[in-house]
Amino acid sequence: MKLYLATANRHKKEELEQILRKANLPIEVFSPEAVGGMPAVDECEPNFTGNALRKAIALKVKLPSDAWVLADDSGLRVKGLGGKPGVRSARFAGEGASDTENRKKLLQEMEEMSGSEREAAFHCCLVLLSPREESQLFMGSCSGEIALAETGEEGFGYDPLFIPKGYKESFAVLGNEVKERISHRARAMQEMVQWLQKKILQESEKEARGS
Ligand code: IMP
Repeated sequence: MKLYLATANRHKKEELEQILRKANLPIEVFSPEAVGGMPAVDECEPNFTGNALRKAIALKVKLPSDAWVLADDSGLRVKGLGGKPGVRSARFAGEGASDTENRKKLLQEMEEMSGSEREAAFHCCLVLLSPREESQLFMGSCSGEIALAETGEEGFGYDPLFIPKGYKESFAVLGNEVKERISHRARAMQEMVQWLQKKILQESEKEARGS
């Protein structure tokens, strides 16, 4: 099975690849660079699912007919901000904003907030598109709170500000070892890996019956 990751985000790609490697599935994983790069996608949908589907379809048209595609759309929802930045997480401080600018904007908007207003959750929607363009959705989320200041060097995006529930440090301090177990992306991936394991087993049983 050939699986192409529909993301231009280096960090997301590394996280997805790492989880797939550990799952030990009979899958060959490719970056969009293998087919000339990830096409630009207008992320205009009101939810993560719509945007993830857009990314998957945008890459699918460039791929060999037997390829599978995996797309990730994700973001942060903050209670005191009524769910913002949500689908606009990557562009919170404006189109083309850097992770640093987005974090600065988040801290500014939350300056006056305390207690439950600082509760937040990361959400991830994965879309797996089969060669016949059948889509499977896998969702994952991770609750926590927004810190008063940035800490840590690892990860990306809002990791230096996000303290997952049950921990005292940010994802950027806790690092990949924790993220790959409890993050929104890891949880969605766990669902997907289970689905794929079942699917691969069914296919091999079908083949055995046919031979
Ligand atoms: P997307 O590429 O449109 O899905 O945007 C995702 C944005 O949400 C990223 O640019 C980050 O700002 C944020 N985000 C998603 N997942 C994570 C994560 O695991 N850690 C930190 N920030 C994340």
